[in-house]
Amino acid sequence: MTIGILGGGQLGYMLALAGYPLGLHFRFLDPSPEAPVGRIAHRVTAEFTDEPALEKFAHGLEAVTYEFENVPVQAARFLAERVPVYPSPIALEEAQDRRREKRLFQRLGIPTTDSAEVAKRGDFDAAVKQVGLPSVLKTCRLGYDGKGQWLLRTGEDVEKARQELPDVPLILEKFVAFTRELSILAVRGRSGEIAFYPLVENHHRGGILRLSLAPAPRLAAGLQQAAEEAARKLLETLDYAGVICLELFEVDGKLLANEIAPRVHNSGHWSIEGAATSQFENHLRAILGMPLGSTATMGFSAMVNLIGELPEAEEVLRVRNTHLHLYGKSPRPGRKLGHVTVRADQLGKLQQRLAELPAFFRRPEFCLQEAQAETLAGRA
Ligand code: AMP
Repeated sequence: MTIGILGGGQLGYMLALAGYPLGLHFRFLDPSPEAPVGRIAHRVTAEFTDEPALEKFAHGLEAVTYEFENVPVQAARFLAERVPVYPSPIALEEAQDRRREKRLFQRLGIPTTDSAEVAKRGDFDAAVKQVGLPSVLKTCRLGYDGKGQWLLRTGEDVEKARQELPDVPLILEKFVAFTRELSILAVRGRSGEIAFYPLVENHHRGGILRLSLAPAPRLAAGLQQAAEEAARKLLETLDYAGVICLELFEVDGKLLANEIAPRVHNSGHWSIEGAATSQFENHLRAILGMPLGSTATMGFSAMVNLIGELPEAEEVLRVRNTHLHLYGKSPRPGRKLGHVTVRADQLGKLQQRLAELPAFFRRPEFCLQEAQAETLAGRA
């Protein structure tokens, strides 16, 4: 059985690694000849818009999925006429445009940030008036890892943004003074079976995820259930198959939806060692119509992203219950090169192990001190 995957980055890499024990084969399509999956699977180098290449790619595949959410919807539709594509192209379409995503949250009664659409430059002033300051201006499409975003705090920021406004649809969101960022990963099989992972606490720097703690420590009663209800509504409405990630802000003890990713997600990497079944294996089980695996956690996990630079492998692996994942990419500033997962049976032990990581991890961008002070050592 061969699964086709659109996108050939680290998410695809880890999907393949999870699929080999199930006897699966993989074929990837990515425009870059450097896509890291080339090390471990058959990689087709072609643009997503190259229909003859898509036609050839689809030949003999059991199913197609994505590891990259900015795949043109047209490519997913073209493939769906030839092989089953999961999640369906409609889910991809909803998640690619922040306006559609917001409207979907609103339609389903999922609390989300206040916002105004800026369809054209002329809408900007009215949007600022409606939403107020501080606020965050975001491009509706193709934004990721904080790209395509402007934080507006002052009248000067507004003026500057007005001068620089790109001629694309935008959305202005109220800036949320959140207590913390959380995400929930959920998976729905083709039969409709659903499983949830626990809420995860996420720390970002410069718009990029740096650290995830799973399960989110010191979670108030009711939040897991609220997140599950929101994820369930999304999965059922989209008749979804596969893993979805819902990113949330925790504010005043409540959850506000920020965005969805229609794929496996960086905030679920801990599940490789920290859950009975990883998000990658469950995504494959889901899209193939197999029974889902248990999402039960094994103690507490911390996942630290390795961005731009790598530590000494030996120094990392010396720490007990620590795992290193390298994606085989050449180092470049801002590039996700790998991650480290540290696991422990108790939160206190996890804190101790994180403190044993080499000095490389003491830099503020890893957010470890911040997490230790606020979360692991006891949030007020
Ligand atoms: P996004 O691409 O929407 O996930 O945004 C990237 C990161 O920017 C989020 O993880 C937050 O840390 C921050 N951010 C985005 N939107 C808001 C908002 N409305 N208020 C406060 N912070 C935000």
